[in-house]
Amino acid sequence: MKILVPVKRVIDYNVKPRVKSDGSGVDLANVKMSMNPFDEIAVEEAIRLKEAGKAEEIVAVSVGPAKAQETLRTALAMGADRAILVQTDDEVEPLAVAKILAKIAEEEAPKLIITGKQAIDDDSNQTGQMTAALLGWGQGTFANTVDVDGDAIEVKREIDGGLQTVKLSLPAVVTTDLRLNEPRYASLPNIMKAKKKPLDEKTPADYGVDTAPRLTTTNVSEPPVRQAGEKVEDVDALVAKLKAAGAI
Ligand code: AMP
Repeated sequence: MKILVPVKRVIDYNVKPRVKSDGSGVDLANVKMSMNPFDEIAVEEAIRLKEAGKAEEIVAVSVGPAKAQETLRTALAMGADRAILVQTDDEVEPLAVAKILAKIAEEEAPKLIITGKQAIDDDSNQTGQMTAALLGWGQGTFANTVDVDGDAIEVKREIDGGLQTVKLSLPAVVTTDLRLNEPRYASLPNIMKAKKKPLDEKTPADYGVDTAPRLTTTNVSEPPVRQAGEKVEDVDALVAKLKAAGAI
């Protein structure tokens, strides 16, 4: 079984984003960029399936600028076998990414696509679902546990208040939730080896996909600054304050 793992280059999750002064977006100049954390979980899960003898090949794909090569090399260093960079400097929206992934899936014929549940820059939570829809495949989103069994996959999904178990026939799309696994760090020897693994370079036009944005961002603003809290003497004082504020 072949597994396709889309990985997105995003602002590092430890970086506090700064909004551009004209409100047109987030300032990415000289900001540390990394693999989207949910995609690290997707790569890890694919590697675990390979280690368990349930997959033979892992192909990492990224749609983005030339620097997304670094993100793909990280996936290769973790354990992916080869990579495809679909290079564009446009800001690509989930539908365009999904169309590209669907075309790659038609060419590569993977049995499984594992995406992150969301990219932490746009928080769209759309790409995996759209890819499944375009391909007419089943989808197991927000995966907490996956279990491949022959031509089917059982996915325990994180839903409000618990876990839901779905069984999908392969090929299928799975999107990762936070508790699926803890991704490994790439070792130094594997980082060196990853430099020699194959990385194909393509463009959206190779797949006949127009990446021109369909959405216009009208404004980006900082969240409101939190007001300082206040210490109270005891529970009675707290209750009195809450009553006075009409909160209870
Ligand atoms: P989103 O729908 O943007 O929240 O992204 C969900 C998931 O789709 C991500 O976690 C990635 O696995 C995948 N994805 C989104 N955009 C890209 C991209 N430009 N390149 C590769 N994978 C992507």
